[in-house]
Amino acid sequence: MSYEQAAFCSAVGRGEEIFWVNPEKKPYREVEASLPFSAAQIEDAEARLARFAPFLELKFPETIKTHGLIESPLREIPGMHEWLCEPCPEAPVGKLLLKMDSHLAAAGSVKARGGIYEILHHAETLALEHGMLQPGESYTRFADPDFRAFFGTYSLHVGSTGNLGLSVGVIGAALGFQTCVHMSADARQWKKDLLRSRGVEVREYASDYSAAVAAGRRLASQDKRAYFVDDEQSQDLFLGYAVAAKRLQKQLEAMQIPVDDAHPLVVYLPCGVGGAPGGICYGLKKLYGDNVICCYVEPTQAPCMLLGLGTGRMEDICCADVGLSGKTAADGLAVGRPSGLVARATRELVSCEATVHDRALFRYQKKLWETENIFIEPSACAGFHSYVQLARACAAGLAPESLHPALCNATHIVWATGGSLVPEQERQSMLQTKTTPEDLGTTPLIFQ
Ligand SMILES: *Cc1c(COP(=O)(O)O)cnc(C)c1O
Repeated sequence: MSYEQAAFCSAVGRGEEIFWVNPEKKPYREVEASLPFSAAQIEDAEARLARFAPFLELKFPETIKTHGLIESPLREIPGMHEWLCEPCPEAPVGKLLLKMDSHLAAAGSVKARGGIYEILHHAETLALEHGMLQPGESYTRFADPDFRAFFGTYSLHVGSTGNLGLSVGVIGAALGFQTCVHMSADARQWKKDLLRSRGVEVREYASDYSAAVAAGRRLASQDKRAYFVDDEQSQDLFLGYAVAAKRLQKQLEAMQIPVDDAHPLVVYLPCGVGGAPGGICYGLKKLYGDNVICCYVEPTQAPCMLLGLGTGRMEDICCADVGLSGKTAADGLAVGRPSGLVARATRELVSCEATVHDRALFRYQKKLWETENIFIEPSACAGFHSYVQLARACAAGLAPESLHPALCNATHIVWATGGSLVPEQERQSMLQTKTTPEDLGTTPLIFQ
């Protein structure tokens, strides 16, 4: 690595806003052969979701218009773009788009991709193993009473800061599983209430996310009929997220937005344990290779992936090790230790990362509401900051070509990862948070 490890850990530990350029990132053709998941595995996940589409259409009527696919809009946000150019005159000129996973059907967050996919895969496996499903039969069968009664004898466990529990809880309930969500202290009350209202058991832990995950893992391991969704190690979650890439490609094509050597794509991905941003990054890399630039973003108090990748210690380092609290208003990103699976799978793929103070999130949230009439939760606003920080880093001397030769000609996608299920009262109180232009900070500390 080119920078001093001690200086890096100390800056992260002080909670400074950082822009980090990944020294381990490699040209795609050099890493392609050694990547842990194949294109065929992602296609398999896609095909499974297509098989379940008729079932999803039945259970989640909001997916009828997408024929049972849980997919979100990709939208231009010219008003927000214009506003961003004010605090940040360096803001890149290319198109700025919002990928609205905040509005995904069924679960209202990016977790609808991974969480729902993993449970569908598990349900399919059980049904096939027990001869419930004949080859070629429609998956609407999964909505039948005999299937529900069958799944009712099995349980699901998941550790969650909120949204993963929501997505697993919602699909678990739709299939008839007994579902138990192990919630960390950061989880919002309304998420617990919503789950309980759907018949999901919620257990609360005073400690952090890793402890909630460990509790769920331990309980499930004692019961043969229990299945544990392991956010720190799950291949299925990762593959479910990776399916997003091909869907996005279709949307870009429909909007006639090219992605090629002369028109790169920069994608800003809020990161918690890493599954969602890592899976999406992985899928996009398979499609676009070096012409997609993936940028993670984490809260300054919970930058676990930055620590794992930036020190090369992966899941062997956590936020507490450098003196950070892990406390953040971005509850979806309040994770102290990264997924080792994701850190290793994307260490040579991800180009850069920014960290963000909580107060900036509320300012982006308010401005997106005012300029575009779109409400997203604080975690989901993090992508805007990486967009701003990349621009500031370039203005401060970071060579854009170090990320891509045609960076100045890029299309930028901020991935909005959650928010459509936030209750009205919570929305109002968040939108009333006082914010000032200073909340967006200044030029980040650059490590490269
Ligand atoms: C979970 C979550 C993320 C990050 O996903 P990870 O898989 O934990 O990295 C981002 N935004 C929101 C709103 C989330 O709920």
